[in-house]
Amino acid sequence: ALAASRAYATHPHLASSKEDYEDAKVMLKLFQDQFNVSTPKELPVYSAGTSASRNATLHINKLNSPVAWIDVYYPVMNTPLDRSVQILDSDGTALWDADLVEDGDPADPEAAKYKDYVPTWHGLSKEGDVQGQLIYANYGRQEDYQELLALGTNLTGKIVITKYGGIFRGLKIKGAQELGAAGVLVYSDPRDDGSVTVENGYEAYPAGPARNPTSVERGSVQFISQYPGDPTTPGYPAYENATRTEGENIPKIPSLPISWANAERLLAEISRNGDARKLTGKTSERTIKLVNHVDNKVMPIWNTMAAIPGHIKNETLLIGCHRDAWVMGAADPTSGTVSLHEVIRGFGTLLAHGWKPLRNVVIASWDAEEYGLVGSTEWAEDFADWVSDNVVAYINVDVSVAGSQWVSAGSPSLAHLIRKTAQDVPHPLDSTKTLWDARTDIGPFTHGSVDDESIKLHPANQLRRSPDTGIATLGSGSDFTVFLQRLGIASMDQSFSMTPSDAVYHYHSIYDSQRWQEIYADPTFSRHVAVAKHLGLTALRLTDSIILPLNTTQYSLELDDYLAQIEELASSLSFSVDFSALSHSIKTLQGASQELDDEKAEAEEKFKEALSNLPQAYTPSSVLFRALKWVLGLGKRTDPIETFIKAAKRVQKANTKLVAFEKGFISEDGIKDREWYRHLGVAPGKWLGYGATTLPSIYDALVFEKNTTLAEAEVERVSALLGDLTNVLVS
Ligand code: GLU
Ligand code: CA
Ligand code: ZN
Ligand code: ZN
Repeated sequence: ALAASRAYATHPHLASSKEDYEDAKVMLKLFQDQFNVSTPKELPVYSAGTSASRNATLHINKLNSPVAWIDVYYPVMNTPLDRSVQILDSDGTALWDADLVEDGDPADPEAAKYKDYVPTWHGLSKEGDVQGQLIYANYGRQEDYQELLALGTNLTGKIVITKYGGIFRGLKIKGAQELGAAGVLVYSDPRDDGSVTVENGYEAYPAGPARNPTSVERGSVQFISQYPGDPTTPGYPAYENATRTEGENIPKIPSLPISWANAERLLAEISRNGDARKLTGKTSERTIKLVNHVDNKVMPIWNTMAAIPGHIKNETLLIGCHRDAWVMGAADPTSGTVSLHEVIRGFGTLLAHGWKPLRNVVIASWDAEEYGLVGSTEWAEDFADWVSDNVVAYINVDVSVAGSQWVSAGSPSLAHLIRKTAQDVPHPLDSTKTLWDARTDIGPFTHGSVDDESIKLHPANQLRRSPDTGIATLGSGSDFTVFLQRLGIASMDQSFSMTPSDAVYHYHSIYDSQRWQEIYADPTFSRHVAVAKHLGLTALRLTDSIILPLNTTQYSLELDDYLAQIEELASSLSFSVDFSALSHSIKTLQGASQELDDEKAEAEEKFKEALSNLPQAYTPSSVLFRALKWVLGLGKRTDPIETFIKAAKRVQKANTKLVAFEKGFISEDGIKDREWYRHLGVAPGKWLGYGATTLPSIYDALVFEKNTTLAEAEVERVSALLGDLTNVLVS
């Protein structure tokens, strides 16, 4: 794992760059070597939409041996040109010019060499040259903007300065844009770094674990909760010759990410002595100028894909991690890629020993996740029907190690599998414990005081967790989004996350480097390996269990909790909404799921019995072969085989129902105002992005539309979906 990390994380690999393409080929080679794919004469690099690319995915059901290939999609993205942030004097000359660079680190060869390689800017940001007075907007959440409005503030023409945290960055820009702001600056505030601050006696990175004041968080500013993927092809694949829209999910005003060092100087313009970091509505006297020149264009991206055929041809487990990074991305996403790398090696060893999974396995190294989940979204939009008809579950990994606390999230139907597997994997550092125990691990830098607000807003504390299983609810921010929220595939994700007492994780900065990973996040690389073990074991349990380990009863019971929350919300807003239809359909669904549990157990038992009654030790394909001969009248009819086929069909039927459960939440019409999202059980919060909102169509109707009639119509819509799902389960 260490060697793999050093190989991937010691150079930049921005999506669509030449290094990214080289890495796409490195992944291809890994698949070819590990899965013993015969290397073709020509590189299997297929332009999306061509028959070669279409066949690669559509033939997964017909494979006899593993294959690997690269799909090329063509989204519109951007790269940075000139940028500047200046404080202007009354005559319009620049008094101060922000440097907009990260310092680098002489002790870290890569951080030094590549410090200017990928300039600090926002992916998919708007081209622009604007000026206005500076105004502080805290985290740029809806409640922050509303507080400013309540103070009588007018944001029109202002340059808004917000800090990172709380919500997805693109939504900070969207909020400012809707109030007429001219531009937005987003900075990283060291006061949100838990206890690991210079004030608490910790030195700034690279000397110590605290934030390097010049660090900048790059990142996409797309409006993720509207739709992800290529901005110009919502809902359909970004082929080279695709018909494109303007791009409705990207800002119309320019923005830039800046360092604390630059922000501190700018904030001084608002208040030289008082605390500028309070919502006061005060603006700077001087004018601030923000210039963001970008190059918008169609850019090729490369998803590296591999497929291992299983015995069951129409059931596939999908596993994926993105490969592109803003700069070197030792944590994001190299740590995940490294964990996946270990899983690939494990599968390679199994294959070499004659293993053939029961179900197909497809592994993806997604590209351009950073610009907005582009590689995964475009592939899933391209092959929506195939994914829907074949994929039984999606396992995502993105950052596998950026701190010490193990956090997992997933569909409620996968929660028991996630937990059980974590209990079967040893703790990375303490052999008396398991990975599951690492849920409460914290970092070593506990000295000094901590800002309460920052603890509350800490990413790990923002997650909504199931009270039953402790597994968090998936919102968005990584490649599971299209599979779960649009296609209804049960999905999961996991990570060792930073806590308020871990070394500061310089997210999307040059300091997310191999050196930082080796000194602070995972010196022994055992966390990378623990995630790999969890991924591998989860994958094997999903591919090789006779009955899919999907617990629909857990899911149906958690719906009670979803309902209780929305009822509470409605009453807190003094809305009277009749939820009885939903309450009733949930109860009926719970009953149907419990019946399915009995059927699962019986189907499995009968299958095992039939299997042991087969005359010889048949392989599944030889049974099929004999059955086929019998059907064609060429072979002898043998009852054990007939019984076996029947039992296998029964298993298959139960599995089809299990997979149908998550799809039961998919409504073709989607969620009002963001119709790309079609899952009515869970969606990224409209003004959260990363965080999840359950029963989102009802939630949005109450909170954003303030419309009880619409809310009741949504209650009906969800109830009807659950009714249909119940019918599927009992059919
Ligand atoms: N994971 C990336 C981020 O948080 C990309 C998310 C997106 O833009 O969809 O910046
Ligand atoms: Ca698209
Ligand atoms: Zn990532
Ligand atoms: Zn990222």
